[in-house]
Amino acid sequence: MTNQKMIQPPEAKKPMFFGIDVGGTGIKIGLTDDQGDTLDFIAIETLEPQGPADAMQRVNLACVQLLDRCSLNKSDVARAGLGTPGSQDIRKGMLLEPPNHPHWHHFPIVQCLEDALGIPVSYANDANAAAFGEFWVGTGKIHDSMVLLTLGTGVGGGVIIDNQLIVGQNSFGGECGHMIIDPSPNARLCAWGGGRGHLEAYASASGVTMRAREELQAGAQSILAADIEKITAKKIFEASEQGDAWSLGFIERTGQYLAIGITSMVHMVDPGLVVLGGAMNFGGPTTKTGQRFLEAVRKGFRERTFKNVNDGTTIEFASLGADAGYIGAAGIARSDYHKSL
Ligand SMILES: [Zn+2]
Repeated sequence: MTNQKMIQPPEAKKPMFFGIDVGGTGIKIGLTDDQGDTLDFIAIETLEPQGPADAMQRVNLACVQLLDRCSLNKSDVARAGLGTPGSQDIRKGMLLEPPNHPHWHHFPIVQCLEDALGIPVSYANDANAAAFGEFWVGTGKIHDSMVLLTLGTGVGGGVIIDNQLIVGQNSFGGECGHMIIDPSPNARLCAWGGGRGHLEAYASASGVTMRAREELQAGAQSILAADIEKITAKKIFEASEQGDAWSLGFIERTGQYLAIGITSMVHMVDPGLVVLGGAMNFGGPTTKTGQRFLEAVRKGFRERTFKNVNDGTTIEFASLGADAGYIGAAGIARSDYHKSL
C-alpha cells in the first residue's frame, strides 16, 4: 500500500517519470508526474539469486503494465530513476558489492535497465533516493537544502544542498551512518568494515538492539529484562508506551547519540532542515514516545550548537514512509531531465 496522493492521468502534469527502488526482498516501481504525484505503482519480488539482468527485465514488464493501467505510452515518460543499495559507482552506473545482493556484484545495472526500458536512467544510492523523495514532495518540500537520516537496520542518509543531491567522489556522499561519534578505543564496532564509533553502531535498529541487551544484561530494571534475547527496537517502543521508564530513557539516550551526529552534519553544511526517516522512529510523531525521542534529538542538538543555528534549524520526522525511495528516484530522474533541457 501507499499513502501517497494518487492522481488520474488527466490531472497529471507531463512529462512522467518512472521511479524504481530496489530492496533486498522487493522492488517498488512507481509512475509519477512532473510534480511528484504518483499515478500508480507496482511492487515485485527482488528474487535476488536470479541476478540483476532478470530483475531489470521484470522491472521493464512492470513499467509496461503501469503505462497500460494509466492509459499512457512510453513516449509520455521522459526518464527513469533507479535507486539501489550500495556499494556502487554512481557515475559509471555500476553496482559494486551490495552486501544483501551477493549475486548482483560488479554489474552495469544502469546500462542494463536503459536497454530494457529504452529511455535514459538516472542512478542513486537507495538512501540518497529516499532523501530526495522527502526533499521533493515530503517534509522537505518547501526547503532548498536538507539532510535526511534513515534509521533502519543501518543508518543511511542523504544530503541535498541548494536543490543538488551530494553524490561525492566515491559515491559515498551522505553516508551519515558512518560518521564517527565516539573516538574512544573501546567504542562500538560498525557492522560494515568494522570501523569504531560510527553512529550506526549506536542508533540503527541493530545497534539499538545490541546496546539494549548489554544494558539489560548488566542489570537495568525493565519489563523487557525477562526476555533479553528477543528484544527489538519495536519492543522497546511498546514497553515505553506502557510506561516502562528504562525503555523511555534508553530511547532518549539513542536520541542523544543522533544529536551528536546531527550537530556535526549541521556544522558542516548548515541545511536548515534535518529529517529523521526510516522504520525505526519509536512510534513517530503520533505517539508520546516518538515525540519524546524527537525532543531528545532536538535538545541534544540545542546543547551542542550555536543559538542562531539552533533557531534556524528544524529537526522533524519524515512523512513519505516506505514510498520515499521510488518517489525520490523519480525525482532525481526529473531533476536530470530538466537540467538536460
Ligand atoms: Zn560504519
